[in-house]
Amino acid sequence: MGIFGGTFDPIHYGHLRTAFELREILRLPEVRFMPAGNPPHREHTVASNAQRLAMVRAATEGQAGFTVDDREMHKTGPSYTVETLAELRAEHPARPLCLIIGMDAFLGLPKWHRWRDLMGLSHLVVAHRPGWRAPTMGPLGELLVDRGTGTVSDLHDSVAGRIYIHAVTQLEISSTDVRALIHAGRDPRYLMPDGVRRIILESGCYARKEEARG
Ligand code: ATP
Repeated sequence: MGIFGGTFDPIHYGHLRTAFELREILRLPEVRFMPAGNPPHREHTVASNAQRLAMVRAATEGQAGFTVDDREMHKTGPSYTVETLAELRAEHPARPLCLIIGMDAFLGLPKWHRWRDLMGLSHLVVAHRPGWRAPTMGPLGELLVDRGTGTVSDLHDSVAGRIYIHAVTQLEISSTDVRALIHAGRDPRYLMPDGVRRIILESGCYARKEEARG
């Protein structure tokens, strides 16, 4: 099972194409989108939990193998990936878990709560993102030497502990840029599915404060 966490503020085609390609390439029966509730290392999200969840649901609706898990949104206090993975591991003791993250997120891994414990719970699948390079030195460089693999079957032969880096189609879209574009009064069409765009326009969640509705 692939697990794709993020703030998804908002979800966009960079996320969706990454999940889609990795599901195909890694032969994952399921990719679970897991919107973060209250991200510990980041500013508070701009759209509300309910709006972000609605956008993720709209974006993934009807796509075979894409599911949404909203457990982190129901937690009070910070939601740590390691804790969520421990829950999933307890629920699926014999199933390989693949945590999907972008290269930018991977480079920040040593700042995550109990980051070294992650590898005991799940594999790590890293998607290349424009402008970021894989580390060759430091703790992440060493981790890659120890645990890196270019073989998909390694992710099926054990339930956790390997790192697989894959160059997905590079779509230079980021949630921050999408929000800035909308804030500037421009239309986010073709950066995300129409259903997501509709929620953004109807809720006014990224509009300028004075223009925000509802
Ligand atoms: P921000 O602009 O605020 O950094 P984001 O676009 O990175 O937001 P997140 O919800 O933080 O969105 O991302 C969730 C995960 O998706 C992260 O692991 C991130 O690296 C990855 N990701 C986001 N955009 C892309 C993209 N265009 N291509 C590949 N991976 C991406």
